[in-house]
Amino acid sequence: MFSISEIYSSRAKSDFSLSQNETLASLNYMDYRQFKKVELHRHFEACARLTSLAEMANMGLQEAATHFQIHHPMKSLEEVIQRFVRTVEYFRSYEVLERIAYEACEDAALENIRILELRYAPSFIGAVQKLDFQKIHDAILKGVQKAEKDFPIAVGFIGIIVRSQSMLEAEKSLDFFLHNKDSFLAIDLADQEVGFDCRNFATLFSKAREHGLRVTCHSGEENVAEAPQFVKNAIDILGAERIGHGLQIIHDQNIMQYVKEKNIVLELCPTSNFLTNNWPDLASHPLKQLYEYGIACTINSDDPVVFNIDLSHEWKIAHENMGIHLGAIHGMQETAYRASFLPEAKKTAIWQS
Ligand SMILES: [Zn+2]
Repeated sequence: MFSISEIYSSRAKSDFSLSQNETLASLNYMDYRQFKKVELHRHFEACARLTSLAEMANMGLQEAATHFQIHHPMKSLEEVIQRFVRTVEYFRSYEVLERIAYEACEDAALENIRILELRYAPSFIGAVQKLDFQKIHDAILKGVQKAEKDFPIAVGFIGIIVRSQSMLEAEKSLDFFLHNKDSFLAIDLADQEVGFDCRNFATLFSKAREHGLRVTCHSGEENVAEAPQFVKNAIDILGAERIGHGLQIIHDQNIMQYVKEKNIVLELCPTSNFLTNNWPDLASHPLKQLYEYGIACTINSDDPVVFNIDLSHEWKIAHENMGIHLGAIHGMQETAYRASFLPEAKKTAIWQS
């Protein structure tokens, strides 16, 4: 059995060969919270603190949990996205957005996330609330910057374009991200993939790359036959360096090989895939197989409050349900550190603090 101090001393030596001696299920949940972590894939709209939502909605905590959270697999990704709306309905003022942003960073810092990439879709918030894109961003940024002063955490933003909205909305979003490229690290394309060809967004993504924005893309998330090809298209057509999810490439060895050769980083989110009904159970989630195949894998929470989880929970699932050794999990953590779009100096400063 390993103690936290042994794991840390091993990490300090950059030695991840813990697997020879470690015992599975040797840690409790609080132990997982103590590791320094990197989170690459977390949606701002899905990390409003539950106690704050309960307060804003004038609900008891149990009622709020039932209303805002998902505890059992839903029918589809679409149904899960609709559940997001229940939270965004309470994003009623810029002050609320600032508070939620601050608390989201505080909660991440409390589980020792040191590097956090938060993503959101201003067009999604804007569709529910009649709020101005720039004022939404300024409020979120204010909350995040205050949290960065109060806690040992470095935060960067990824701007999301929503597939199922109009091209006009996509263009408006991109213009907004480019106008704020000092605070957006990258862009992402999210939402359901079937019926929304990524070629439609090729020009926008090309323009984003020309202006120095990095690219990640939700792809290969839904359990459909075309999913592996969607991932290849996101790489070839949009220039994705990282793929949000991508788990369904497990069904196509040629595309697994392609992703490996291109050194594309997968942002895997096991509980999310289970609750969106895109993978049947956590124990057989393909994270372990993809990692063992040699693909650059990272572990992420996706929608922590909506799914009633955190990143520590996902580490615990990876170790105890999937049987991935702690040494391998730390290897994925190193991958996440390297793949983070935050500037190197900001990463180094916060990691060593
Ligand atoms: Zn996501």
